[in-house]
Amino acid sequence: MNHFSEIDRVYRYYSTDLALRAAVVITTKASRQICRQLETTPSATVGLSRALTGAALLAAHMSENQQIGLHFNGDGPIAGVFAEATYEGELRAWCGNPQVDVIRQQQDSEARLDVAEAIGKGILTVVRSVPFEKQPRVSTVQMVTSQVGQDIAYYLEQSTQIPSLVSLGVMLADDGTVQCSGGVLIELMPGVNDGLIPRLEAQAAKAPTLSSQIEKVSDPIELLQLYTGKMTLVSSDLTHDLQFRCRCSQSRLERSLALLGGPELDELIKTRKDVEARCQFCGASYTIKIERMEQLLAEIRSEDSTSKS
Ligand SMILES: [Zn+2]
Repeated sequence: MNHFSEIDRVYRYYSTDLALRAAVVITTKASRQICRQLETTPSATVGLSRALTGAALLAAHMSENQQIGLHFNGDGPIAGVFAEATYEGELRAWCGNPQVDVIRQQQDSEARLDVAEAIGKGILTVVRSVPFEKQPRVSTVQMVTSQVGQDIAYYLEQSTQIPSLVSLGVMLADDGTVQCSGGVLIELMPGVNDGLIPRLEAQAAKAPTLSSQIEKVSDPIELLQLYTGKMTLVSSDLTHDLQFRCRCSQSRLERSLALLGGPELDELIKTRKDVEARCQFCGASYTIKIERMEQLLAEIRSEDSTSKS
């Protein structure tokens, strides 16, 4: 039987006293696949895998057909990291400059990747899409450490007023690819004493790092117990797989082109060149022919005249 860390999956838990709910995710394969496609350097690999894991954790506590996007928009050389996850477990991510690597010499003379430096200072934008709502819900917070996990925890605290703990663990293999990647999200239930999260954090400070434990422990609940210690936790039956999946398509691209509006589309048509586009998430390429753009423009104009009449 495969070790649980070899299968990308979300696991959900709650404490028997209902003080908290938690999720554990494994994102090794999706992270590996995305980083291979984008040909990321080790710094970009860690930043991207953390963001992807964070998005998967937040999506785990959402509802059906909902989707979350995390955009770490910093001034560092990586030029932004974006990760998206759906409640159903579809994941995708990209970064602006996957070829950048930031390595810093530490006091102990060991060179370490510096993800915070790669991402830089800036803003975290969180976009939640909820079915039957025309516009997505967008919130922004200042990044506090640019290490991804604490920035997500800060966003949660700001947006829900509920303290939470977010721990993201990414370990690289000797060749710089993802060895394992996963995360833990613990959220207090409303009305629960705030003192619990600092206690869990203190517990975590004594524990080995999450990334070092993902392949070691025999059950995902043990990753959670690095933080919760002896607290009694119950596993929810709501467990499902996670996978890299891009939902780009010719018709989505055409829709976004139509959203540019009539005048912009008209300008594009005047160039007499087909539009070539490449999906930044999965690399798929699309072509929209002049004839198709003319059709789209005609559709926009007839909609405009209907809405005016
Ligand atoms: Zn795509």
